[in-house]
Amino acid sequence: MVAKELDNRTALVTGGNRGIGLASGRALAAAGARVVLTGRDERAGAAAVSAILSEGGMARFVPQDTSKEADWHRIIDDVLGREGRIDIVVANAGITHAAPIAEMRLEDFRSLNEINLKGVFFAVKHGAMAMRRHGEGGSLILIASIMGRISAPGYCHYSAAKAGVRLLAKAAALELGPENIRVNAILPGIIRTQMTSNFRESELAPLVPMRRFGEAEEIANAVLFAASGRSTFMTGTEMVVDGGWTAR
Ligand code: NDP
Repeated sequence: MVAKELDNRTALVTGGNRGIGLASGRALAAAGARVVLTGRDERAGAAAVSAILSEGGMARFVPQDTSKEADWHRIIDDVLGREGRIDIVVANAGITHAAPIAEMRLEDFRSLNEINLKGVFFAVKHGAMAMRRHGEGGSLILIASIMGRISAPGYCHYSAAKAGVRLLAKAAALELGPENIRVNAILPGIIRTQMTSNFRESELAPLVPMRRFGEAEEIANAVLFAASGRSTFMTGTEMVVDGGWTAR
C-alpha cells in the first residue's frame, strides 16, 4: 500500500459531524490520519463517519459538548485509550446568531462565547497536554473567522470570540513552540454550510472579490496544510481563506 502523509497520526476534529469540520475530517482521513469526529448530534456523527469510511478512511464519532471541560477529559482519555495518541486537533465547533447590541441578552453573549471561545481554549489546553504525552509535538488548528478581524452589525459576540481565538493561537504558539506543538488559526470568509444557509448569496456574493461563497473543502485544504509536514515551521500565524473579502 502506498504510504500517506498522515499515516499513524490521530486527528481530533470538534464539530466534525457536518460543514467545515466534516470536510476537514475527510481531508485528514484521505491523507491517512485516524480521525475522531465530535459534536452533539450523534445521528449526524454516524452519517459523517459513514461518509469517511465509504471513502476508505478511518473515522469514528464521539459525542461531545466542547464547552464542558468534563467532556474534554472523557474524550482525551477515550482517544488516548483507543488510538493511543493525539497529533492534530482541529478546534472547529462553533455557533452563530445575530442580534443588535441593545437587544443582546447577556445569556446570548455568554452562551456563544462558551462554545466559540471557551471551547477552543479547552481544545488547546487538553490537546496540548495529550501531545505532551508522546513528546513528538503536534498541530493545533483553531478555526477563527474573518469576523475576528472585521465585523458586521449584530455580531459583537461572535467577533469578540473569534478575535479572542486569533490571539489565543498566538499566545499558545509562544508557549508551546519549544515542544514542537504548533498552533495556527484559520480565518474563513463566507463558506457555504448550514451556518450560512440563511445568507442571501445573490446579495452577498457580489461583495466578495471572487464573486462567490467558499466551499467547506476549501477550508479543509488549509486545515490539511496546517496539519501536515508541509507547514513544520509555521506557528502563531493566521491563514485567511476568504475569496479576497478582507483584502479591501
Ligand atoms: P455548521 O453549523 O455547519 O457546523 C458547526 C459544527 O459545530 C457542527 O458540527 C456542530 O455540531 C458543532 N458544534 C456546535 N456547538 C458545539 C458544541 N457545543 N460542542 C460540540 N460541537 C458543537 O458550521 P460551519 O461548518 O460553517 O462552522 C464551523 C466553524 O467555522 C465554526 O467555528 C464557525 O464559526 C467557523 N466559520 C464558519 C464560517 C462560514 O461562513 N460557514 C465563516 C467563518 C468561520 P452539533 O450541532 O452536533 O454539536
